[in-house]
Amino acid sequence: MSSPSNQHSLHHILSCLSDYDPNALPVARAQDIIRQFVTPIHAVEKIALRQALGRVLAQDIVSAINVPAHDNSAMDGYALRSDDLPLDQSRTFNIIATVFAGRAYDGEVNSGECVRIMTGGVMPKGCDTVIPQELTVNANASTVDVPAGKVSAGDNRRLQGEDLANGKVALAKGRIISPADLGLIASLGIAEVPVQRRLRVAFFSTGDELRSLGETLDDACVYDSNRYTLYGMLTRLGCDIIDMGVIKDDPVSLENAFRSACENADAVITSGGVSVGAADYTKQMMADLGDVAFWTIGMRPGRPMAFGKIHSGGKSAYLFGLPGNPVAVMVTFYFFVRDALLHMMNATVTPLPLIPARSSSAIRKRPGRTEYQRGILGTAPDGHLEVSVTGSQGSGILRSMSEANCMIVLHHNQSKVERGDLVDVLLFSGLI
Ligand code: AMP
Ligand code: MG
Repeated sequence: MSSPSNQHSLHHILSCLSDYDPNALPVARAQDIIRQFVTPIHAVEKIALRQALGRVLAQDIVSAINVPAHDNSAMDGYALRSDDLPLDQSRTFNIIATVFAGRAYDGEVNSGECVRIMTGGVMPKGCDTVIPQELTVNANASTVDVPAGKVSAGDNRRLQGEDLANGKVALAKGRIISPADLGLIASLGIAEVPVQRRLRVAFFSTGDELRSLGETLDDACVYDSNRYTLYGMLTRLGCDIIDMGVIKDDPVSLENAFRSACENADAVITSGGVSVGAADYTKQMMADLGDVAFWTIGMRPGRPMAFGKIHSGGKSAYLFGLPGNPVAVMVTFYFFVRDALLHMMNATVTPLPLIPARSSSAIRKRPGRTEYQRGILGTAPDGHLEVSVTGSQGSGILRSMSEANCMIVLHHNQSKVERGDLVDVLLFSGLI
């Protein structure tokens, strides 16, 4: 949907790369190229705070107040002057007032005096320390004994602005708003938030063997599952989706689908029809409509992939032509598309942490490609993190993905893993 810009074409970027081989492209290289080519979309809308969960913050949120507004007590107890704290034996203080949460005592507190104070009560003038109620003895309505050595100067006092200081950036633009952020924004008294508009992502499946839900499953056919995993992943990422269904493998249907997707969406995702031997029109149509590279990536699953930008009716859209195999779709989405879409959304993308875990079995692996095995990460009886592979790892076996809670990342240069070796694991939960 974005209009054509004056950025470099993909083929220009590719021609500037040394040792670029589309037929043996390492994962990291493909990620770099995508990163270089994809540009953020600048479109901001203001929405009610509750609607902002999961959206990308479009401007810094600057605090216009101090949170908390005053020094206040972190405990139920007695506020006093730290000069008065007894050094060796307990000391009796006169209780001159009581302060509840959200209230203040305007009077001065002199030496030998204290104020009974509840959590959140404003610290009275002269007081800098709170002794919790349970550390005192012999408390009655007018006096309380404070034993020596229980608290130090400044204890149990929350400082003005210690959570959020007036004039400081409370949240930087680009972050994906979390439940904690919602609370933080609310604590500043802000009811509306500027966020990036949602990305529009169109997708369709290609392959004459595919049937949609509700249709009869003819012999030798399979139900289309890719549109459902894509729906799930894109929804989690906060995109508006346009599900265009299964597109028949004929040039007219494909051209119409690509053109309509391009004219209505920021990005287009297809699955199927990009493998080397594919006897269909998908690749041809992608090439005809834009600036598209066809790659064989050094990875498993998910070797074939098309990436670029297509144009139609004065509009353009980034194109991700994913392989057809259901596991390959998810893996290529997570390792290429996700990052690109977050970048288009102007989100600040921090690399997801790889967690080292012990492998519960040997895993075969050839150097020269990145492998993503589906794993179940848990804690072994000896307390160490341990990961086991979820059965058969065929790229058509979606159950391997469904049972897994993580991906075991076997890096490009890595070779065979022995039982008990540490392997890198990426948790699904961090992928949104
Ligand atoms: P392709 O990449 O088109 O050669 O497809 C590879 C394999 O994935 C074939 O076995 C297809 O039947 C299967 N496949 C392709 N698209 C889908 C889909 N949308 N849902 C489920 N399986 C698919
Ligand atoms: Mg196919």
